Amino acid sequence: MAFSTEAVFREDSYLRETEASVVGVNERGGIILDRTIFYATSGGQPGDTGILVREDGSRIAVAATITGESKDEIIHVPALEQGVPEVGERLRLAIDWPRRLLLMRMHAACHLLTVVCPYPITGASVSEDDSRVDFDIPDAGFTREDVTARLMELVRANHPIYTSWISDAELAANPTLVKSKNVRPPSGTGKIRLVCIGDNASVDSQPCGGTHVASTAEIGEIHIGKIEKKGRENRRFRIRFGAMPAN
Ligand SMILES: [Zn+2]
Repeated sequence: MAFSTEAVFREDSYLRETEASVVGVNERGGIILDRTIFYATSGGQPGDTGILVREDGSRIAVAATITGESKDEIIHVPALEQGVPEVGERLRLAIDWPRRLLLMRMHAACHLLTVVCPYPITGASVSEDDSRVDFDIPDAGFTREDVTARLMELVRANHPIYTSWISDAELAANPTLVKSKNVRPPSGTGKIRLVCIGDNASVDSQPCGGTHVASTAEIGEIHIGKIEKKGRENRRFRIRFGAMPAN
């Protein structure tokens, strides 16, 4: 039986703590709650880690968060040797906020990269200190320095980043919103979550279910670490935090 977890992070990516009730514990010890602030691994963004605090004050460390049988079922995977909560028990949830904030900054930076490099995306992976986006382009013609400079222009412009929802029909009428070459946004649920950058989405909008910071300035200083050739028609861009090292 699959549960449907209310994904609180989708409406408020800045919520670090909340409360929830246990609705199930699966055969591998995975904990399923009625609602959660723990993002589950998907779309190239790793799931959250953190703690669940029981009413007696004891803690259950969450080592990973994944989706279950359906995308709506979010499973909190405990670290080894943790207590097992009862169904119906109330828990206090706290995500590893410093790690999540890094992931939100990096994820937003990946969106900016797709603005600077407007080519079909063939893959992406976000991590705390190094993220990559793969593009379908035969010859980049881009330099690390140019791309970094254009990314930092967008960061400094302090554009707002926000979400809005559109219908399947609106998405079908605007196919250029989808930048990913191989992955289609889920359709059939009736609505698609768009991540928009800039007033009236003037900088960008694209379907995405991940967590992002609320403005481009919050991304902070980033640079392109490398542009790698991955096959004849693929270029992999690596984004890192901080200023570009001089060399
Ligand atoms: Zn995103």
